[in-house]
Amino acid sequence: MRIVEIRERTVAISRYADAALPSGGLTTSIVALVTDVVRNGRPIIGYGFSSFGRFGQGGLINERFAPRILNAPEAALVAEDGTNIDPFRVWEVMMAGEKPGGHGERCVAVGTLDMAVWDAAAKIADLPLHRFLSDRIGPGATGESRVPVYAGGGYRYPSDDIPRLTEEIRRFLDLGYTRVKIKIGTDSVSQELSRIEAALDLLPSAQNLAVDAMNAFDRRRCLEVGAALAPYRLWWFEDVCDPLDFETLGELAGTYRPPIAAGESLFSLAEARLLNRHGGLRPARDILQFDPVHCYGLPEYLRIFDALEAEGWPRRAFWPHGGHLFSLHIAHALGLGGSEVNPLSFQPFGGLADDAMVVEGYAGLPPGPGIGFEAKAGAMESFRALSDC
Ligand code: MG
Repeated sequence: MRIVEIRERTVAISRYADAALPSGGLTTSIVALVTDVVRNGRPIIGYGFSSFGRFGQGGLINERFAPRILNAPEAALVAEDGTNIDPFRVWEVMMAGEKPGGHGERCVAVGTLDMAVWDAAAKIADLPLHRFLSDRIGPGATGESRVPVYAGGGYRYPSDDIPRLTEEIRRFLDLGYTRVKIKIGTDSVSQELSRIEAALDLLPSAQNLAVDAMNAFDRRRCLEVGAALAPYRLWWFEDVCDPLDFETLGELAGTYRPPIAAGESLFSLAEARLLNRHGGLRPARDILQFDPVHCYGLPEYLRIFDALEAEGWPRRAFWPHGGHLFSLHIAHALGLGGSEVNPLSFQPFGGLADDAMVVEGYAGLPPGPGIGFEAKAGAMESFRALSDC
């Protein structure tokens, strides 16, 4: 059993449902990992991409990490019994010779390939990824057949911001979401509050709205906005300052009583430990959003999860960033608080399967083998253009 070819392509991706709106030149890498396992006359191929918010990782994937997988002996990549690829072993092969620290975006390149490895392994096992994961890393699964989700989006529009924001939220509600997250951090406090008020007018309560400042605030602004937001008692206040400014985060946590969410832009176990030690966060209340793709893939995400769980963080505190099917499977397998979903942003890779239903804020899981991209026509068009060329 071998991984015989790995293909990567960097593709444009948009924060908006209308991809014509400017999105800062954002890209993501998509990868196809071709195995020599043939089923129904076709090779099993694992698909992955670089999640959202960071850029394509073609250089690191093509020059550094994919060659390590392709050049490794078969025994280094497969399980003891030879029946499947072992994603943990593949991860060790990718990381061979890498020194601690200096995470940069190396971790995103590794995580991109790791997603495709898990997709391939679950397909070889003929299981949906969440079932494959439960067998490997359980017993986290709750017994539920669904996952709590919220709709992520609400980026500031270049014109007609409030009407377009409210239209977007109405679409989320029509799709069955009950909780949404919108962005703040680019305007004056009064304009931020206008967005929040407009969103709250459509939602049952402030507990259905989270806001994300996208790490834009310095200390003064963070505390100023925190003081303005506190009376609303929102579901959570996310990415409140620079990801490594633990001093400001801790200061906010000392005065801002409602939940704070953090961790999306920390990409390693070492950084997660620093956040826990110095960020002043409150395990009984706050939210951790490490992205399983951005932080070196699932093996490192599991180390972060285990380390912080041992420090007293409950599973319900973990809501992985990403808003795609990979995070959904992980949230289910580990019994996490829930998963972000990007129903409109970052298409065609964001969001759920095309025929998925969200019912009162809960999403089911794709029943097919692997991650289930095959049930997302737009994503598969891109992946097949890569793997069939
Ligand atoms: Mg965020």
